[in-house]
Amino acid sequence: MMPKIMDLVADLHLHTLASGHAYSTVSEIVHLASAKGLQAIALTDHGPAMPGGPHRYHFGNLSVLPEVDGGVLILRGVEANILDSDGTLDLPEIYLKLLDLVWAGLHVPCLQPSTRSINTRALLNALDNPYVDGIVHPGNPEFVIDEEAVVQAAKEKNKLLEINNSSFLIRRGSKTRCA
Ligand SMILES: [Zn+2]
Ligand SMILES: [Zn+2]
Repeated sequence: MMPKIMDLVADLHLHTLASGHAYSTVSEIVHLASAKGLQAIALTDHGPAMPGGPHRYHFGNLSVLPEVDGGVLILRGVEANILDSDGTLDLPEIYLKLLDLVWAGLHVPCLQPSTRSINTRALLNALDNPYVDGIVHPGNPEFVIDEEAVVQAAKEKNKLLEINNSSFLIRRGSKTRCA
């Protein structure tokens, strides 16, 4: 049966204990995903620049996990932190190329918000990285951006822009920016 539009079929932005600010193990997440009938999950812990985040070896070793467990496809990923306006990520290419899903995002502990044009440049340059599949929570009001330019670039490069429902709770003001 085809899923209804609002049926969740996959959760592609997840943190495990390894991120330092989440509380579940991989096996707890897989069990829950299986119980909820999800077809796929992506393990996307933060890159190493996040305080409390994992060492880069975490990402190099993800291949030890099964590809499918409990009927759930397990994608290996990262929520990489953008470190500067050049779009530099906190995980080098040798690790990025091992992964199924690479999110990139702006996070205050890793990069201070700047002007609209510099924040936007950081996202546009990150989108230029061939390993980056998409941008997380671009609606975050802490980083003022040229939304039109980011949406246009993502569309041209066929990349993802996340509408993050957790942001609606923890990043006040995200909802109106995502509407
Ligand atoms: Zn996080
Ligand atoms: Zn994030």
